[in-house]
Amino acid sequence: MERPTVHELSLCHAIAGVVKPYAAGRRVDVVRVQVGALRQVVPESLSFCWTLVRDHEDMPEAELELEFVAAEVDCRGCGQHSEITSRWTVCCPQCESSDVEVVRGNEFLVTSLEVT
Ligand SMILES: [Zn+2]
Repeated sequence: MERPTVHELSLCHAIAGVVKPYAAGRRVDVVRVQVGALRQVVPESLSFCWTLVRDHEDMPEAELELEFVAAEVDCRGCGQHSEITSRWTVCCPQCESSDVEVVRGNEFLVTSLEVT
């Protein structure tokens, strides 16, 4: 089992901080979160941290559903628009330039909730 990191834990607290006011005392069943590839989130670690945070925040039924968004860049070197497969580096897969503009991949959003 991967150790939970401060990074994932703080993200889970951020999720709970968004969810709680919306739920307003209702039972939360599902929390859907969009995570960009560049957020460097380890899914297993995030899921584990969520189980800690949701209990602490008094919404033990809330399941976390993660939707990962691939990173995309526009390269200033060669002008290509590309999807990045590596999670850890940002450079153009066509010409390997690091002079790129990140178009997608930094998302971290609660996209929807199911409450009862
Ligand atoms: Zn390029």
